[in-house]
Amino acid sequence: MAPTRSADTSETEAGSTLGLPGLSGIEPTALATWLANRGEPTYRARQVADAVFGGTVESMADIVTLPGELRRALSAAFRFDTLIETELRIADEGLTEKALHRLADGALIESVLMHYPARRGARERHTLCISSQAGCAVGCPFCATGELGFGRDLQTAEIVDQVRSASRRLIAAGKRLTNIVFMGMGEPLLNLDRVLAAIEALNDPHRFGLGARHITVSTSGVVPGIRRLTALGPQFTLAVSLHAARDPLRDVLVPLNRRWPVAEVVTAAREHAAATGRRISYEVTMISGVNDTQVDADAMADLLRGDNAHVNLIPMNPVAHTPWVSSPMPVIERFAAILLEAGIQTTIRGNRGVDVGAACGQLAAERAGEPPAPAVARRRARLIAESAAALQGERSHEPAPVGVGD
Ligand code: SAH
Ligand code: SF4
Repeated sequence: MAPTRSADTSETEAGSTLGLPGLSGIEPTALATWLANRGEPTYRARQVADAVFGGTVESMADIVTLPGELRRALSAAFRFDTLIETELRIADEGLTEKALHRLADGALIESVLMHYPARRGARERHTLCISSQAGCAVGCPFCATGELGFGRDLQTAEIVDQVRSASRRLIAAGKRLTNIVFMGMGEPLLNLDRVLAAIEALNDPHRFGLGARHITVSTSGVVPGIRRLTALGPQFTLAVSLHAARDPLRDVLVPLNRRWPVAEVVTAAREHAAATGRRISYEVTMISGVNDTQVDADAMADLLRGDNAHVNLIPMNPVAHTPWVSSPMPVIERFAAILLEAGIQTTIRGNRGVDVGAACGQLAAERAGEPPAPAVARRRARLIAESAAALQGERSHEPAPVGVGD
């Protein structure tokens, strides 16, 4: 079988600038068929998977368990790694490693590895935050990725290879990856087929082998995607980026809210929790004077009271060209107290890697260059006006972002 027809033909169309398909995105049955068509014994599939996911082999040429001729055939058909180049920046005294990856077509994506030392009886954790798209169409104005706009969907292998890259670094240091969160660039539920295929590879004990409960997928509220997940009944955690419980404000902070308003998002999340028995995580990026008022805390408490939910309050990472900064800690604490009072589990999270631009998309945005100053000034003025109007309870009537369909 020709490799370009093997696993996911949509990823390997003729004329693609992305070159050969990445080996880590090939389904086991497709790989087994490819090997069988070459007359290889069945145990070769396991040897290839061990090399791809074992975390010690760097290239196809290094798979010493395979005969040279098969290594050459694999190299002619697949890429061992879809990340062409990775640049690392270290922050938080080594606790945060931000990686900027260049892909075959020049697209830049980011992943962030966060180390959490053992404490209070909890084991040490090594959590990787990965990207599902280059850029993002949703356009949340506090997010550096949103500012970049949409580039393209990542292939399955490009998602998995971010994990392999971090895992190789960890294994070399005698550690292993414990958690994966889809909280990097992009909206995972708008690239759901590839995200699900990647999770399958990461979860499969014969491939990466990380338990589903150690994987979190975060969405800005793509209701059809949440429903699709509910029907599948996955065991990974679903996180919903809520940011505001009132539609006028959420319209500004998450433009997708104009298509799927907050009540629909929370209903879909509730149904997901009921069907899977898994608690929903809600993320709230705390922006000073914008979504951190008493009114907002009360609205969120009313919205989530009685739900199987956990709210994470996250100080906003500074992002160039926004008029906004993080809420001060006492304000975040007051907000948390109101939610706790309503019986809603709430945690205040730290933000990692501020000094290396660890808010998703910041390094890629930096590379994209400065937009013209008048455009930045206009954008800031519009955001200030829109958020002020939203605080008065007025909804804007702009359409939902282009390219975000259902
Ligand atoms: N698109 C998905 C997943 C990627 S964004 C989503 O929006 O959920 C992952 C998380 O990073 C989201 O909760 C998002 O709100 C948060 N985020 C984006 N920019 C941020 C910033 N400047 N400061 C803090 N959190 C930010
Ligand atoms: Fe996209 Fe998430 Fe950033 Fe919003 S916060 S622009 S959905 S990546």
